[in-house]
Order: sequence, then C-alpha cells, then structure tokens
Amino acid sequence: VKSRGRNSYEFFDPTMEAKTLERILMENELRKAIAQGHFEIYYQPKKDLSTGKLTGMEALVRWIHPELGIIPPNRFIPIAEETGMIIELGEWILRHACQQNKRWQDEGFPPLKVSVNLSARQLHQKNLVEVIQTVLKETGLDAQWLELEITESVLVKLEEAIEILQAIRDSGVQISIDDFGTGYNSFSYIKHLPIDTIKIDASFIQDIHQNQESQAIVKAIVTIAESLNLNVIAEGVELLDQVAALSENGCDQGQGYLFSKPLPTGDFEQYLLSAHK
Ligand code: C2E
Ligand code: CA
Ligand code: CA
Ligand code: CA
Repeated sequence: VKSRGRNSYEFFDPTMEAKTLERILMENELRKAIAQGHFEIYYQPKKDLSTGKLTGMEALVRWIHPELGIIPPNRFIPIAEETGMIIELGEWILRHACQQNKRWQDEGFPPLKVSVNLSARQLHQKNLVEVIQTVLKETGLDAQWLELEITESVLVKLEEAIEILQAIRDSGVQISIDDFGTGYNSFSYIKHLPIDTIKIDASFIQDIHQNQESQAIVKAIVTIAESLNLNVIAEGVELLDQVAALSENGCDQGQGYLFSKPLPTGDFEQYLLSAHK
C-alpha cells in the first residue's frame, strides 16, 4: 500500500493489522504452553543489608518456548491477564513455588519465605483463598513460608481488596505491596491495608546514591513503614553505593542483581549451598 498522506492511515494501517495477528498467535501459543506446562520458575534472593543474610526469595516465571527459547514475563503476563489465562497459570506458579520451597526445607536447607507475584485478576477471583489453602495443604508448605506480592493496581476496588487481603492474612500467608510509590495515591491508602511488607519500587533505588529526592522518598516510605509496623525492602539493588544509601535511610532489606539475578531451580540450589556455608 502506498502512503497517500495522513488520510490513508484511516483506510489501512499495516502495523495495526500485524500487531493483531501477532497477538492472536501469541494467545494461541500461550494457551498451548499453559496446557503443556512450558514454564519454569526462577528464584531471586532477598537479603538483609546489614548482615548479608538471606531472608527469602522471589519466584519469577519464565515461559520456555520450544522454538523461541525463554520469553520474559513482561511479554506474556499482560496477555494472560487480559484473557483470564492468568488464573490457571497463576495457580500453576503458586503450586510449583510452594512445592519447591517445601522440597528445599525437606532437604534440610534453613526455611525461607518464598514470594509469589499475584496479579489483580487473581486477587479478585472468587475462590482465591480456597485455592491458596488447597495448594498449601497439598504441598505441605506451612503458611508462614509463603508471601504474596501484589501491586497497587489491585487496589482499584479498595474495599473488596481489603477484605480479600485480610482473609489471606488470616490463613497465615503474608502480603507485600510491590512497586510501592509508583501509584498516584500510594501514601493515602497504605494505612488501610492489611499487609506485612512494603517493597520500594526500583525507580527510587536506581539513583538513590546520587539523588536527594529519591533519598527523601525512601526515607519517607521507611518512616511510614515503621509507624505502621511494616517491613520494608528495596528492589533493583545493583550497586554497593545504593546499599549504603539505603542503610543510611533506614531500609535494611534488599533484592537485586548486586546479590544475584533470578536463577533457575538448580542454580538457586547451588546459591543456597554457598550462602549457608
Ligand atoms: P516485579 O514483580 O517488579 O519483579 C522484579 C523484576 O525486576 C524481575 O523481572 C526481576 O528479574 C527484575 N530485577 C531484579 N533485580 C533487578 C536489578 O537489580 N535490576 C534490574 N534492572 N532488574 C532487576 P522479571 O522476572 O522479568 O519480571 C517482570 C515482571 O513480570 C515482574 O515485576 C512481575 O510484575 C511480572 N511477573 C514475573 N513473574 C510473575 C509471576 O509469576 N506472576 C505474575 N502475576 N507476574 C509475574
Ligand atoms: Ca514482585
Ligand atoms: Ca516490583
Ligand atoms: Ca515491577
């Protein structure tokens, strides 16, 4: 199609058509992948910044495509959410993360908390609490070793979210607010939430060692966390200078490439072995 100026785009937009096709293919591939379990969970350590001790690990899903290789979650989680496939995929992730954590405990590693990401759609699925309890029961993992990370986007229906979060916590599972500080209302609703941990978004950590505003924001979040009796952790820690700035501002937990990137199960096990030596 020859471009005839602006109006021709109303007539035919090849990029739009291509996207739609790619999207349809992607959805079909994803549906197959879920049916066949073509996913793997990677684990990234969380650390106490003052002692260097391991405090837990975040479970991060990867799609292992037979031809395309590893597909990162940013490319398929949004599609899984929009189509509702995240319900089935999310349960698969939860089950595998709990099962693996239990396995490590049974193998004699000191028990650690595994953090599993939960999308908005999952939080508002009707039987979520039941699903969580069933998974814990079937895998044998004690509730105290599971944490769910949710982002602020799930809080659109605030009242409903509070009720669900409360029910989850009543069953002994912990809740962390992910990417904290990126929502436009972060500071106003936080006191209403039945949660355990605030995870400071990586954007504030990225330049904390050289930016006073990021320092001030982190300090404010730490102050709020303390007054609400919540734990606080920084994500996206890549530099020792950032650790120093975090410690100065009272944040004593961190996660990021400085310590380790997310690792497949076998590699994480090696990491555990060396961490506990
Ligand atoms: P998130 O929950 O905020 O996860 C943190 C992301 O930052 C991960 O990317 C992690 O690999 C990456 N990261 C960790 N340390 C560093 C660092 O020091 N520097 C930088 N630049 N990045 C770091 P990943 O694994 O690609 O996941 C991206 C997003 O996809 C996650 O963001 C989360 O929103 C979503 N996601 C991942 N796994 C799951 C899952 O199992 N379920 C759901 N619902 N969402 C998931
Ligand atoms: Ca997360
Ligand atoms: Ca995050
Ligand atoms: Ca994020």
